[in-house]
Order: sequence, then structure tokens, then C-alpha cells
Amino acid sequence: PGMTIKELAETMGIRVVDALKSLIKMGEEPKTIQDELTIDIAELLVLEYGMHVKLPEGSESMKLDLRAPVVTIMGHVDHGKTTLLDYLRSTSVAAGEVGGITQSIAAFEVHRPKLGKICFIDTPGHQAFSSMRERGAKATDIIVLVIAAEDGVMPQTIEVIDHARAAQVPIIIAVNKCDLPGADPNMIYSQLMEHGVTVEPFGGDVQTVNISALRGQGIDKLEEAILLLAEMMDLRAPRDGPAEGFIIESRKDKALGPVASCVITLGALRVGDVVVAGADWGRVKVLRDAKGESVKFVGPSSVAEVVGFRSQPSAGQELFVVENDSKAESYTEKFGSRKGSMKRIQSSKQEEHQGELMEVPVIVKADCEGTLEAVMASLLALPSHEIVLKIIESGTGPVTESDVQSASASGAHIYTFNCRQPSAQLKKTIQNLEVKVSDFRIIYDLIDNVTSLLVSKLPPRE
Ligand code: GDP
Repeated sequence: PGMTIKELAETMGIRVVDALKSLIKMGEEPKTIQDELTIDIAELLVLEYGMHVKLPEGSESMKLDLRAPVVTIMGHVDHGKTTLLDYLRSTSVAAGEVGGITQSIAAFEVHRPKLGKICFIDTPGHQAFSSMRERGAKATDIIVLVIAAEDGVMPQTIEVIDHARAAQVPIIIAVNKCDLPGADPNMIYSQLMEHGVTVEPFGGDVQTVNISALRGQGIDKLEEAILLLAEMMDLRAPRDGPAEGFIIESRKDKALGPVASCVITLGALRVGDVVVAGADWGRVKVLRDAKGESVKFVGPSSVAEVVGFRSQPSAGQELFVVENDSKAESYTEKFGSRKGSMKRIQSSKQEEHQGELMEVPVIVKADCEGTLEAVMASLLALPSHEIVLKIIESGTGPVTESDVQSASASGAHIYTFNCRQPSAQLKKTIQNLEVKVSDFRIIYDLIDNVTSLLVSKLPPRE
């Protein structure tokens, strides 16, 4: 009897979503997380994560190395994200070393002696921030949600809470600007409660820390909270398998060509590796660590700068190592057509319609929590600028009468993943109300379809 995807992911200490994604990348078509894997596929998946074991036994050698948390700082505009990042960054380098830091690396590491390391993603502010934020939520282990004490919970605060929930990323609350007179963290705790977030002082399990990013107060407590949560999450990754990670930012250097900042989440990236990121690939020629020093390899939960991509990879793309150039080419081809559509959506922001966001409502249903999570994570990673996907409802189980009614009322398209067909009676209602329902068995197909839906809503090009 084989193991299910869920069981294997749990044994390996990786997220079910990541196991699903890896399987899809390997060309499998997982339908549910309860799918049983053949020994061959299971072994491939295990190898993919750099673990050299024989299944099904070998639980001991399968234990992975602990790794540092990758953290994103989010919050409403002006609540102090940049100030906090600046402060953290300033503590991340020993005095006198500042000049050596490559400013272009959009992430940095903080080392706390005895306690551990934290990898912070320095999300670039304004430009494309909403899509970066979504990527951030997807790409990180922990979100620090900054809330200004004198301002309280604001619209973007709520968005972060929603994204974190959809992507199942735990949050830590940082109540900022506590140096200001009248700062009242309790007021913020009550506001958070209204949005389903119960902090520890109120009997919940979400940690909260009072800080002043401006004065550098409470930052050590915040770092301790992050490391404590990371310990509880028991984050693990292979230390020397083929690397996986994602691109945070990339730029073109006159002399070096494309330079990509990335965070390595699994395995080790080495000079000479062939890397793929979306439709772009290359061979790692130069690798720099968080300090901007040239190194031969970087391990999990590390920041790295990669020189060697043939074309400039896009921010937010997942990065992984493949065996050779031809493998890389076949991967990038597959991604290519999808990226064309994505580019079209992204470039729409340069066209006329400024400021006006067009929302495309959808309802998402999946057969179980695990797949819903994977589908939501992929949907949230879609670019959103001029045109944004608005998931008005999501849940598990087949389409219901009430889903159809809300779809009809809002003009939403219903996407189902691996769900049972609606009953004959419900089918009639669907027809009468002219609601569109599409069912998919493969996540990539669903994403492709949603992408086309978004593209179809774009204003026609001149
Ligand atoms: P962001 O938009 O979230 O990145 O916010 P910024 O970091 O740019 O901060 C917005 C404003 O709040 C700036 O004027 C900061 O100086 C100020 N600010 C940030 N942190 C603190 C703090 O802890 N105390 C006080 N009094 N002001 C702060």
C-alpha cells in the first residue's frame, strides 16, 4: 500500500502545497492530497528534495535539517514597514561593513547569536506592491503585520490578514509607533479580534509585540517572537539537494547581464547549476551571499544574488535547479505561453485607465482543504494591476444553490477543482441564471483558464 501525498509531505516535513507543486512540476497530475503515490514517484519526490532514502522505511535519514524562517513585513501604508526594515537591516551588518552590502539585494539576513538566523524579504514599496504582497504571502514562512498604534486596523491591514489566511502563513503582530503618546495596543487587539485574529494577551495564539521602529525599541522582542514561532513551526529543508527558491527582484547590469536577487528555500544553489525561473533560465556564473560576497554555494533560507540568467527573470517567479540545458529549455517553453498572457495583464497598467481597478469576480470550490489551499495560493500569485481577480467566495465541496445565487448576483464565474457534478436540478438553475461553471482536474489548467478570463476582460488594444 502506497503513501498518500499528504502522508508523504508530512513525513518529509514539507508543506502539502509544495509537494503538490513539485509533483505537477514532475509532470504528475495529482488530483487530491489523498492520492496514493507509487513508490517510484514517491522516491522521485523525495530525491527532488535532496533526501537520499529508501521508502517506505528510513524515517530517520528522512529527518531534514532545521532552517531559518523567511519573513515578510507587511501592513498598511505609513504604518512603518520601511522604517522597521531599515532598522532591521542596519542591525544585520556589523559596524563598518555597510559599504560591502549590495544594495540591490532585496532581502537580508539577521543573525542573533545563540538564537538563530532570520531571512527578511525587503519587499520593494510602491511599484506593483499588491502583487508583490501576494507573492510575499506565498513565498514566506511568517508575516510580520505592522500596525501603527495611533492609526489602528486599516484596509490594507485587513487585506494582509486575508492573504495570510488564504496562503496559510502565520502572522505576528507588531504594534508600531508605541513611542507616541496615547498609543493603545488594547484598542488594536480588539479591532483585530473583529477580523478573526486573537492575540496572546486576549487568550489567542497570535503573538504580538509593541515596538517603535523609529527608536529601535522592542525590535529584539520581535526577533525573538519570530524565532519562537519558527521553532514551533519546525521548519526544515534539505541542506544540499538541488535548490529551490524564488526571485525577489531582478535587474540588468551593463557588464554582467541579468542579475537576480533570490531567496533559496530548499537545498543548495551552486555555481555552475542550471536554474529555471518561469520562462527564463541560465547557468549560475557568479553567486553572491547576503553580504554581497562571492561564494561557491548558498544553503536554505538564504539570500543570494545570481548572475548567469540568459534573460531577466520576473520578480516572484519560483526558481529551481534542473539537470541540464535541454531540461531547462523544455521547462521554460511550457511557462512561456502562460507568461505571454501574464505580461499582457501586467502591461495593461501602462495603458490609459489610470487608477481604476477592474475586478473580475470568481467563486472557487475544491474537493478538499489541501487542494483548495493549493488552488488559492496559485490564484493569489496571479499578477494583478489594472485588472484584479476577486475571489468572492471559496470553500470545499461541490457547487451549491447558494454559490450559484451569489454568482448570478455578482456576475462571478465559478471554478471548481475536482468536484462532483451538480445535480440535475441545480444544473437547470445554472442554465436559467446563465452562470458559468468550469470544473478542472489539473491546477495548471485552471490557472490557465482564469488567466484567459482575465485577459478577455482587458480593454482591446489599439
Ligand atoms: P511604510 O509606508 O509602512 O513603509 O511607513 P514608513 O516606514 O515610511 O513610515 C511612515 C512614517 O511613520 C514616517 O514618517 C516614519 O518616520 C514614521 N514612523 C515609522 N515608525 C515610527 C515609530 O515607531 N514611531 C514614530 N513616532 N513614527 C514612526
